[in-house]
Amino acid sequence: MCGVVGIYNNKEASTMAYLCLYALQHRGQEGVGIVSYDDSKVHVAKGLGLVSEVFASREKLESLEGRFAVGHNRYSTHGEKSRINIQPLVFNHKGNQIIIAHNGNLVDLDPIRGDLEDKGALFQTSSDTEYIVQLFSHSKAKTIEEKMLDALRRVNGAYSLIIMYNDKMIIARDQYGFRPLCLGRYKDTVIVTSETCALDLVGAEYERDIAPGEMVVFDGETEKSFKIHAPKPRHCIFEYVYFSRPDSRIFGEYVDKTRRKIGKILALEKPVKDADIVISVPDSSNTTALGYSQRSTARFELGLIRNHYVGRTFIHPTQEMRDFNVKIKFNAIGGVLKNKKIIIVDDSIVRGTTLKMLIRMIKETEPAEIHIRIGSPPVKYPCFYGMDFPSKEELIANLKEVREIRDYLEVDSLEYITVRGLLDSTTLPDDHFCTACFTGKYLDSEENY
Ligand code: AMP
Repeated sequence: MCGVVGIYNNKEASTMAYLCLYALQHRGQEGVGIVSYDDSKVHVAKGLGLVSEVFASREKLESLEGRFAVGHNRYSTHGEKSRINIQPLVFNHKGNQIIIAHNGNLVDLDPIRGDLEDKGALFQTSSDTEYIVQLFSHSKAKTIEEKMLDALRRVNGAYSLIIMYNDKMIIARDQYGFRPLCLGRYKDTVIVTSETCALDLVGAEYERDIAPGEMVVFDGETEKSFKIHAPKPRHCIFEYVYFSRPDSRIFGEYVDKTRRKIGKILALEKPVKDADIVISVPDSSNTTALGYSQRSTARFELGLIRNHYVGRTFIHPTQEMRDFNVKIKFNAIGGVLKNKKIIIVDDSIVRGTTLKMLIRMIKETEPAEIHIRIGSPPVKYPCFYGMDFPSKEELIANLKEVREIRDYLEVDSLEYITVRGLLDSTTLPDDHFCTACFTGKYLDSEENY
């Protein structure tokens, strides 16, 4: 879970990167960084917090000079939550600057680390991204492009990468295309970013997705595509369920359209008889709930209101207050919910704690009945490719049967969409998606996970 952006050839590259990171804030709220490159000099600004918190002053952005910039929103899935791991990472290679930003998770790294350390590599961070740079610098290939292909062919797992090598921009996506990565243009400027919503914000034109297994190198006026591996698409279906923004287009389809379809199929698969209203848990399940209501006799209502201004620096009360974490974010509207038979549509249940607290709060408004419908199958297995799920032991659907979860939540009914239904909401063939978090079926080569 991270957002990446690369700006190639614009005199306000860092400002453009900042705007794109703003649009990608949902992909990571833990830390943010922008690194710009200007005539052999590298300028770095990073910090823990939201884009608006880290880049609170214009001076900070203006200090990031140069026509090239790389940016990253971090949500750590690998490596510690410390400042040193905030990306983009910067390395020096024989007097040249390497700037790298990565979305995804590499797997099976231990043998690579052992091999590199035997050859004298000194790791500077605990981030998996550094392995790519170490492999690159140890490659015996002649050109920068071949060295990078060498490095990328040795790593397994998920990567959507943006790399600057001096004033060359190298972008790459793993052969499975787990995470999204797209290419757009604004006049003579090339913009590479995780989601199309970032292109929309800066007025850039979407050109295409980077293909799974593709590396593209921008060097001055030239643009060259290389094949790292043959494509074997296994896009993360959870990007459609929860993670990407509804106004983005990923894996060839608008998230909004797919998410609405998830809601519609969920309504057909798991209806609730004679319900009065459908409500969402804003904002993440708005679109799914809307889709559900379009295939239900119950009307869509706003029953929960979300406070959007809860930043990282929020001061928690010292006194213990029940369900405080959810109350600071949501409030229930009594007038809408009282005496109603309600359907709450949520996108997913991970630990189950959010929904448990929400339901306690909703019950204070005295609804007649509460029925929960979930726009993803039960999340039972951890993700090794970049989605920040807790360990298996914390996933409620791994610990309990659906009826036990229903009892734990103390609701009248609980149902999930089926894996079949979720796949039918997309426009690609079934085997183009990774559904491992629901099915436990990981890639063939990593069956031992
Ligand atoms: P919980 O069940 O309390 O862990 O919270 C689940 C809710 O958090 C879901 O309904 C989503 O809106 C959101 N969510 C889904 N996946 C994730 C994730 N990987 N990390 C954080 N929040 C998530």
